[in-house]
Order: sequence, then structure tokens, then C-alpha cells
Amino acid sequence: MDTPKKKSGWSDQELEASVEAYLRMLGLEQSGQTFKKAEENRLLREGPLNKRSASSVEYRMQNISAVMEQMDLPRIVGYVSAKNIGTKMGGRIREILIDRNAETFRRGTKQSSPAAIFRPVELKSSKLNDAPEGILNPSRTSSASTKLARTLRIKNWVLEQSRGVCEGCDQAAPFLRPDGLPYLEVHHVKHLANHGSDEASNAVALCPNCHRRCHHSSDRADFTDSLYTKVKRLKPE
Ligand SMILES: [Zn+2]
Ligand SMILES: [Zn+2]
Repeated sequence: MDTPKKKSGWSDQELEASVEAYLRMLGLEQSGQTFKKAEENRLLREGPLNKRSASSVEYRMQNISAVMEQMDLPRIVGYVSAKNIGTKMGGRIREILIDRNAETFRRGTKQSSPAAIFRPVELKSSKLNDAPEGILNPSRTSSASTKLARTLRIKNWVLEQSRGVCEGCDQAAPFLRPDGLPYLEVHHVKHLANHGSDEASNAVALCPNCHRRCHHSSDRADFTDSLYTKVKRLKPE
């Protein structure tokens, strides 16, 4: 099981909870629903962020806004970007955002829009040899945008392989995305935050339930082991 590493004081669990709350609020905002920042902040401090003050939670949300902007993604209007964020913290937040499919919030019709990245492709059987080149050590190579583009290529390829069926529970994706493709999430089996590689041999397409199970369930270690057994292209790292 993953143990939280002390990096910049914030554990992986704390950052993951922050990013998840952020994306949940962003989803509400973008669908025109209301939420109270102060209330969300309080709920986080009653749960996973119980060691943090209201202002440090607020500041972390502003850091996430800064990383969202770096990734050319929309941010929550109420959380102005706090840009003086360390490279390490920025990288950790970006990896969690990628794992939680933050790029599905990308809007507009620029070349980098989801429609372009996830263009419906002819589903053909392909072998691991056809997998796009990934990144063995994502945190040490190239610029943030190059890394992101490569990550998205891997994600796209893994989604194609799944043919719309969750690789965890073998059920069809629960619903379709706005572009008509099946909604599944790509999870890095050894988490990027724990220096897992950004390779097809470390990535699975999961339904939201199975993805949550990997991160939050009591049997997450066993469930992860079952993925290695079940999905042949995966290689334990
Ligand atoms: Zn599933
Ligand atoms: Zn994940």
C-alpha cells in the first residue's frame, strides 16, 4: 500500500483530497450550480485536511488554480491563482489533476480541445508495441506542456484499447461523454505521485467506481493486484 511521503509538508492524500474537492466545485460552477467555498473548506478540514487551517486550504486551492492555468484549463472563478508555487508542489498537483481527468474541463475548439485529442478513432486491435512512447520518469523530462501532450496520447491509446469497457469490472462505461465516446477514466496503477511511469504498461481505463476503488477503498491494494493479473499489458513497477 502507498504510504504518504512527507514532501513540502502536505501528504499525497491531502493533495488528492484538495484536487478532488477543487474539480468537484469546478464541475458545479461549470454546470451553473452554486456552492459555498467556505462550506467546502470546512468540510475538508473536518475530514482529510484536519491538520490544516482555513487559510492554508484556501491557499492550496489558489495553487491548484495556478496549475490549471498552466495546463490551459479553466479555473474556479473564486480562487484566484496563487502563482508563487514551488516546482515540486506544482508537479505533484499536476500529476493528480491528470489522474483525475482534469483535461475534460478544457473548453473551446482550439487544437488541444478534447474533440481533437480524443478524436474518435477506428477501433482496431493493436498490440502493446503500437503503444505511443510514454515517459519513464515523468517528473524529470521536458516541459510541462510537452509532458501533458504525451500523457494525453497515452491516455487516448489506453481508452481505445478498452473499447468502452472498464478494465476493472468489465462493465460498459456508465455513460457517454459530450463528444459521444464512452466515459472512462485513465488511472496510473503505480501512481504518478509515487513516481510511477507514464507508460501504457502502467495505465488502465476504469469506470469512475473502479477508479475510486483504486484510490479510496479498504481493498485498494488487492484490487490493484487483481488489475495486474487481469490486464496483460500492465507491468508491476
Ligand atoms: Zn469498473
Ligand atoms: Zn487514479
